Amino acid sequence: MKDAAPKTIYLKDYTPFGYVVESVHLTFRLAPTSTRVISRIAFAPNPDATDRAFFLHGEELSLIWAKIDGQDVLPDVTDDGLRCTVPDTPFIWEAEVEISPQTNTALEGLYMSNGMYCTQCEAEGFRKITYYPDRPDVMSTFTVRIEGEEKVKLSNGNPVGSGDGWAEWHDPWPKPAYLFALVAGDLVNHPDRFTTMSGKEVELNIWVRPGDEDKCAFGMEALKKSMTWDEEVYGREYDLDIFNIVAVDDFNMGAMENKGLNVFNSSCVLASPETSTDMNFERIEAIIAHEYFHNWTGNRITCRDWFQLCLKEGLTVFRDAQFTADMRSEPVKRISDVIDLRARQFPEDQGPLSHPVRPESFQEINNFYTATVYEKGAEVIGMLKTLVGDDAYKRALDLYFDRHDGQACTIEDWLRVFEDATGRDLAQFKLWYSQSGTPRVSVSEDWADGVYTLTFRQHTPPTPGQDVKDPKVIPVAVGLLNPNGDEVVPTRVLEMTKAEQSFAFEGLASKPIPSILRGFSAPIVLERTVSREERAFLLAHDTDAFNRWEANRNLARDCLVAMIRNGAGPDMAWLEGLERVVRDDTLDPAFRALMLSLPTQSEMAQVLFEMGTTPDPDAIWQAAEDLRGHMAEAWQGFLPELRASVAVDAPYKPDAEQSGKRSLGSALLALQSRLDGGAAAQAQYDAADDMTLQLSALSQLISAGQGAAATKAFEQQWKHDRLVMDKWFGLQVGMAKPDMAVDVAEGLVEHPAFDMGNPNRFRAVMGGFAMNHAGFHRKDGAGYAFLADWLIKLDDKNPQTTARMCSVFQTWKRYDDGRQALIRAQLERIKAKPKLSRDTDEMVSRILG
Ligand SMILES: [Zn+2]
Repeated sequence: MKDAAPKTIYLKDYTPFGYVVESVHLTFRLAPTSTRVISRIAFAPNPDATDRAFFLHGEELSLIWAKIDGQDVLPDVTDDGLRCTVPDTPFIWEAEVEISPQTNTALEGLYMSNGMYCTQCEAEGFRKITYYPDRPDVMSTFTVRIEGEEKVKLSNGNPVGSGDGWAEWHDPWPKPAYLFALVAGDLVNHPDRFTTMSGKEVELNIWVRPGDEDKCAFGMEALKKSMTWDEEVYGREYDLDIFNIVAVDDFNMGAMENKGLNVFNSSCVLASPETSTDMNFERIEAIIAHEYFHNWTGNRITCRDWFQLCLKEGLTVFRDAQFTADMRSEPVKRISDVIDLRARQFPEDQGPLSHPVRPESFQEINNFYTATVYEKGAEVIGMLKTLVGDDAYKRALDLYFDRHDGQACTIEDWLRVFEDATGRDLAQFKLWYSQSGTPRVSVSEDWADGVYTLTFRQHTPPTPGQDVKDPKVIPVAVGLLNPNGDEVVPTRVLEMTKAEQSFAFEGLASKPIPSILRGFSAPIVLERTVSREERAFLLAHDTDAFNRWEANRNLARDCLVAMIRNGAGPDMAWLEGLERVVRDDTLDPAFRALMLSLPTQSEMAQVLFEMGTTPDPDAIWQAAEDLRGHMAEAWQGFLPELRASVAVDAPYKPDAEQSGKRSLGSALLALQSRLDGGAAAQAQYDAADDMTLQLSALSQLISAGQGAAATKAFEQQWKHDRLVMDKWFGLQVGMAKPDMAVDVAEGLVEHPAFDMGNPNRFRAVMGGFAMNHAGFHRKDGAGYAFLADWLIKLDDKNPQTTARMCSVFQTWKRYDDGRQALIRAQLERIKAKPKLSRDTDEMVSRILG
């Protein structure tokens, strides 16, 4: 609960803990409201530390007794831990505490989900299990004994013994407490085996609730592919005899990389063609890979403190993106990641929640599991790889694993391996870790005497706490094309290091057309006035798939802006160019589907805001509707035929080829439904035998105003399946007409299956609602009030999920005075809630500014 004055923690104040932990032995006597945890911990004075104060973190624990070297002690216990006088030589600390997993609704520490015990300790959950130095730089081996009636009892490491009512595990790899995990319940497993590159046999299991066994095969294949990929690409081998994954229904995050025992939100591991969409399959493959890759980037080498979170997350997101690109399509993955970055990270980086990839202070670390730390953190690593080259990147990573295995590290350690492996000075590059905000780069061009010159100017607008920024190192990938469409200069990386810098290209026969920031080589906003014709040229000819997509995206934006601001009609010349791409069957259907996706309404609000026009959510929604209507009409002659040509005529597979076709088919169906009153969507719904086709049909039926019967039928068919019902909840509110969205959301929270205690269900409704841009931003403020009501209700139960959901208000300064006043009033109402959690209090305060 909220402290009188929330404490801010600073990176600069870091000091090592006064003691090292040589071993940890834990015994759990499980009981829903009275679990006993008995700890036996060997401490020794830390020669690298000067401060010998003995403080152990602990929250919501009832201390039964404590001993040092077998002698009873009476520690000084406070709300956040305990202090005790200890010997100045190595000693054994023992304690017994009681905790109540059943009533732990925050889902941090040890809690229960559908009768099953599970844990979530990152970042600071272990302190709710027992008294311990709960900080990532304190690493130790763990031995864990679990006593209880549950059939399955799991912890980290390898199993070392079991008997009637007990099981014991030992993890030989020293780890911080945030990687501790325990699971106990009546679970069933989907088993498999893997032989590592050195011939070591590993037992693999996915543990689920009975009834979910048939949804594990895909996850298991993804795990084996990840293990092989990490051996082949990074030379990293698995290091225990067993690797367990457990699916949990009530989970705040996607998944957690606990050593040897990954705990997953069931939505991120369970999959079957009937219940999961292509997107679910792709996401599951990526998350299983991500958590598995953490075994080296996160577990074997961990973070010294939570300010270094990007050390493990940025790198592991980068690695999982490489994996997905290898398994599927590289350009499609890149474009999808940039869409996501712009939708989630850019608004964060340009608003009141802006913070550096490595923050310098926090009140609640849970609030820093952000798109900036994860996704921008991965972009920074991508830039580093671009700058040093693939071979040097590999050398640096080998050195990183070699030098730091078993350590808790910092960004300085990370950059030093690159400096040592390449001889480069990365002092300026490091600004990417310390400066917040999205750099803006403007470009001008010059053509004289066969020399073509590009001049770049960079500047980063002020962000909270950082008014002035120094120029950063920005890799700008550029290619040049001839007016006839041939590429005359293939992709070259220009390394920008100054505020203003020019690059010349010589020996050209005619003035080229530049393709700038290919592959989105840096997470920046490119500011360049480009004519319609030049964009259309790049849409038709660019050899870089990303920039071809980008040219189209910019044409779509310009078209929408003109429709919103001037009441213009659609840009028919652009639509003709887009038509050629969409009908080009030599192109990947997944890429063509991405070309058809219009900028989101939230993105358009940001575009207008930056142009000095106050965005009107209703006008944005209307323009997008009108544009889709025009597209449908202009293309009605070929839509049904093209859609039929990408129909999959083979048993369902969630691979890149089939899912690309279904994705294009779905985009075409959305247009077709505007003309036929939903007839094609109804036919697809009736015939669908996989969730991808069923859900895309249902969404088009709702959008065409013909969804009532199908919505009911869908509920009847799937009411037993929690994960499918999450889709049902989210879709209705997400697809609702803006003036109906609040009513739909109010109806859904009255539904008997709405359960605010389940983060997936809460996010399905509230997240789906906030994504309904014009519905959420309804002029009378009803949307804001509705969401604020539910955030206030959830805060008592689950601060972490509440605080994260507050970020939907972060873009509030974009809107008109009336909406700003309404949002401010709701934020102030949340802030005034008695006993507001530290998590939510910090988020709301930062958003208010
Ligand atoms: Zn991660």
